[in-house]
Amino acid sequence: MAQLDKLMTIDKLGSEMLFAMDLTNVVSVCDPAGKITYVNDRFCEISKYRRDEITGEKYSILNSDFHSRKFFSNLWKIVRRGKVWEGEIKNKAKDGTYYWVHTTIIPFEDENGEICKYISIQKDITNNKETEGTLKLTLNKLAKSNKELQAIKHALDESSIVAITDRKGTITYVNDTFCEISKYSREELIGQDHRILNSGHHSREFFKDLWSTIGKGEVWQGEIKNRAKDGSFYWVFTTIVPFLNEAGKPYQYAAIRNDITEQKKSEELLLRSEKLSIIGELAAGVAHEIRNPLTTLKGFMEFLNADEKDEKKKTYYNLLLEEIERINFIAGEFMLLAKPQAVDLSDKRLIDIVQKVIKFLESEIHLKDVVIKLDYDFKDEDVIVQCEENQLKQVFMNLIKNAIEAMPDGGILHIKITVNNESAVLYFKDEGVGIPPEKIKRLGEPFYTTKEKGTGLGMMVCFKIIQNHHGSIHIESKENIGTIVTVTLPKKTG
Ligand code: ADP
Ligand code: MG
Repeated sequence: MAQLDKLMTIDKLGSEMLFAMDLTNVVSVCDPAGKITYVNDRFCEISKYRRDEITGEKYSILNSDFHSRKFFSNLWKIVRRGKVWEGEIKNKAKDGTYYWVHTTIIPFEDENGEICKYISIQKDITNNKETEGTLKLTLNKLAKSNKELQAIKHALDESSIVAITDRKGTITYVNDTFCEISKYSREELIGQDHRILNSGHHSREFFKDLWSTIGKGEVWQGEIKNRAKDGSFYWVFTTIVPFLNEAGKPYQYAAIRNDITEQKKSEELLLRSEKLSIIGELAAGVAHEIRNPLTTLKGFMEFLNADEKDEKKKTYYNLLLEEIERINFIAGEFMLLAKPQAVDLSDKRLIDIVQKVIKFLESEIHLKDVVIKLDYDFKDEDVIVQCEENQLKQVFMNLIKNAIEAMPDGGILHIKITVNNESAVLYFKDEGVGIPPEKIKRLGEPFYTTKEKGTGLGMMVCFKIIQNHHGSIHIESKENIGTIVTVTLPKKTG
């Protein structure tokens, strides 16, 4: 009932006042001594106090310590004189959070002209206050560092690859350096997203992680391999800075990149050649020492096997011979690395070597349900390469074996040979399990294998041999689609 009474009093204040005190306002009433006698729902909401907690208290319960004592004594001085006070107050809610309210305090007099109550009408201006604050701060900072900023921007534009994208990743700005390195024109890039530069090198998770970082408003840094318009690749060290809106959400991203292609290339080369030379040294020492006694072992084993009548013993001998063969094979792979200079080159028909290898592997190919399609132009049949035939055989054998092993349920292995002015190019295209992008660069690392009985030496040997033949190997792969290994060898001209 008491509450209703108070509401009635407020109602009597007139329609104009009521209008001002609509639902969005925070309304409270206090007695001449400053004790709160009424609060509306909005007041409870914003102050986080229940009505029964706040009624009977003084406004000082909401004191945020932001304002001076003088601020409040001045306020009371004015309203006690019967005048309206208007101003902005920072309050502290029950849970310790702060809120800003634009406040109007109106004193009311009774019939005797004595002040009987004060009505306070407040509007929540917390958001305005906060933005105003940050804006002031940012502007201040900007004003101070504007010169510096200009200098940095200039330096960045000169030295770095700069792009700006919107919230969704659509490119809205690129500088000249960006166009130069990507080989795309500005018109071709604006409106696209960075997928246009995707090299296929990084996994989906890599980009997911990138986006979740910058989406949270955090800076992302890392190395990215990109593909230019002409198909060439380049590496960039990338920093992506999100720009946040008032709500703290990114509304655009600035990406600053630096070309690290050369650095990357030498890093990879160094890594590979370091490993190779360590392996090579080890191999030189060990492989030779192993092969000699192995030859003796093998010879005597064959001799014993030939004389053996007992069938059971014969199978054991055969098993031992197979194992010796495997040791011999691995030692052989090492030997290839140990003495790369010892390559003895002679002129051979490339087609002959390929056909010999296929013939050699024929039974295994049939067994695994693999069909080999050999494809070349008749006019290229006589193309000659200067090579050490056995080593090239080794390469083709490793590549074909890898392809077969990648197709456990069979499939087509397409071997295509093309010839251009300087070189012969061989493609080994399988329909196998493929290789994930991040694993491709590990091919050629010694002992990198995904097979139970693998050695992880095959690809390393291939790289080394082809390198000794002044050629190159390139691998392209899509998971569950297949792999294309491209071998380029200089051809003999004239
Ligand atoms: P190994 O064959 O003994 O495992 P390699 O050096 O020949 O050693 O190959 C290394 C790894 O590369 C293989 O274990 C396999 O995971 C992968 N690999 C090579 N070639 C292919 C291919 N054609 N398809 C799928 N994976 C391949
Ligand atoms: Mg292999």
